[in-house]
Amino acid sequence: MNTSSLNQSNSLISVDNGKISARGKSVLKQGEVALVGSGPGDAELLTIRAMRFIEQAEIAIYDRLVSDEILALLPDNCERFYVGKEQAKHCVPQDRINEILVVEARLGKRVLRLKGGDPFIFGRGGEEAEYMLQNGVSCHICPGITAASGCTTYAGIPLTHRGVAQGCTFITGHIQNNGQLNLPWQSLCSPSQTVVFYMGINTLAKIAEKLVEHGRDINTPAALIRKGTQPEQKTYRGTIGNLAELVEKHNITPPTLIVIGDVVNQLTEQQLKTPGFLDAKDYVQQAVEKIA
Ligand code: SAH
Repeated sequence: MNTSSLNQSNSLISVDNGKISARGKSVLKQGEVALVGSGPGDAELLTIRAMRFIEQAEIAIYDRLVSDEILALLPDNCERFYVGKEQAKHCVPQDRINEILVVEARLGKRVLRLKGGDPFIFGRGGEEAEYMLQNGVSCHICPGITAASGCTTYAGIPLTHRGVAQGCTFITGHIQNNGQLNLPWQSLCSPSQTVVFYMGINTLAKIAEKLVEHGRDINTPAALIRKGTQPEQKTYRGTIGNLAELVEKHNITPPTLIVIGDVVNQLTEQQLKTPGFLDAKDYVQQAVEKIA
């Protein structure tokens, strides 16, 4: 039995079906769907429950944000169905994705619906679950590490920090159907609050303008984290005032997260050489440079 130990063979965790059935947990039956969050990219951030569903999948219906490293964990005989979206050009419309889930479940398959981050955080997972239930399909729901948590941590940014940030808000910077970006700006402007924007890279100039207009200091530290937790992770630090310039200068594209608040420079002001690793040597070096 080897249900929860870290890898001895190729996979991170190996599922002993007998044991799991006996416990009745995370068993994906024929005709059921598992709606699973795959986290921001690094396969080591998958939950054990997510891994169990992955290993039982007969068909995986997945989005663009699911990393190749995670897709490589699917069983060899698992069908793969890409329904990814790129901003403004939907590969498969949401209604169609909902239908596909129901149709595949009704065919009696063990269906894995794999989504980046957490399915219930800017992931339309709630809509998919609702549609499945309305159509008599049961679904397991499995959280994933959401980008705001995974990417900031791997970039060395604590979302809250005693005496610096008492709270944190996750918000979308995606333009609404009416072409507007109507957000509760006033509520995002307390200096002791960290704000994380998802899907905001294309509206960044507007976001910066609105925050300043509603009273957030233009010199508030800010960061852009692209492809967080993945080997290509890059963190660009600046202030609210120069974020838009950074995007232009470095040609930053999605998936990128915007982080606003004093916590951005709390532990380091540098790009971590290894995502998720704070090197004490670099910390000392930084301190010396500051004094000099
Ligand atoms: N359900 C997902 C969010 C989907 S919205 C979650 O919980 O994380 C898509 C947005 O999430 C992207 O535009 C980007 O802002 C952010 N995002 C997701 N994964 C990311 C990553 N690895 N690095 C940076 N941003 C990411």
